[in-house]
Amino acid sequence: MRFSDLDQRLATLGAQPAHRGRILRVWLSGQTLDTGSRKDFENFLPLAVRNALPALTAELDGLARIHSEHPGDDGKRLLVALADGQMVESVLLPRDALCVSTQVGCAVGCRFCMTGKSGLIRQVSSMEILAQVVMARRQRVVKKVVFMGMGEPAHNLENVLEAIDLLGTQGNIGYKNLVFSTVGDRRVFDALPRQRVKPALALSLHTTKADLREHLLPRAPRISPEELIELGEQYARDTGYPIQYQWTLLKGINDGNDELDAILSLLKGKYCVLNVIPFNSLEGDDYERPDAERVQEIVRYLHGRGLLTKVRNSAGQDVEGGCGQLRSRVVGTEQV
Ligand code: SF4
Repeated sequence: MRFSDLDQRLATLGAQPAHRGRILRVWLSGQTLDTGSRKDFENFLPLAVRNALPALTAELDGLARIHSEHPGDDGKRLLVALADGQMVESVLLPRDALCVSTQVGCAVGCRFCMTGKSGLIRQVSSMEILAQVVMARRQRVVKKVVFMGMGEPAHNLENVLEAIDLLGTQGNIGYKNLVFSTVGDRRVFDALPRQRVKPALALSLHTTKADLREHLLPRAPRISPEELIELGEQYARDTGYPIQYQWTLLKGINDGNDELDAILSLLKGKYCVLNVIPFNSLEGDDYERPDAERVQEIVRYLHGRGLLTKVRNSAGQDVEGGCGQLRSRVVGTEQV
């Protein structure tokens, strides 16, 4: 379901734009639409719309349901069942943030990511993205939405941009608290500056070496780290939001001092923050997580030379829940 489908259906029932907007805002806030428990709808909505609300409520609630909850030290990971039985992951993060999935599977195929191993299964619709927010708001406050769960948002651009627009205009989320995360795609740099709601941008860099990046992110668009940073800087200057560069730290692969010196040089004077994410390794993985001491050393080294650097743990890693790992474990790899 796209939002336009819902809007059209309500219009056919006689709902005016004010009715449709109110229904959407109430749903996005996490409240129930059911007229039985919402007396304020009784006089406001046309009878045909009121009569349709119970079925509509059931349909909207069925777009994303919590299949299981997995609390961790740094958040709570939710395995989410979509209406057709496909599973994605959403993560309740600290500071009222929520991480949502934009695709079932992912075509980029990053070598360190479980989601990437499955390839793309299907797109997540804009309403399914919004339903993840509604589902989370029924658990607790959500003031920030990061599009960093399963999937590459640039590969589902229309749905993601529609969800961002509706969250920014109707969902009570500040524009800079919507974070579009991408491996880098020229279509994103064309599209985002033209949006009414311009989100903040996170760019998954991971290395300063173009050949290593091609290896680690085999089906990412071929954009050199230098060009990606130039495109990011332009967007940061246009919007006034710093770019969040993402760097998954892989022991012995991209955690050497040569990489640190190169990133310092590339990001010098740029309006940005660097998020280092120590790899969440599982037994049998090809990659390893650097020791905690090395991670601290990296942060000190970069900080000391003027680059704002933060350590981000992939939420819920203590419940074996790096991106896609939870789904893979629960759904079974034969279905992934
Ligand atoms: Fe896709 Fe992101 Fe996983 Fe890469 S890290 S395969 S872009 S979901």
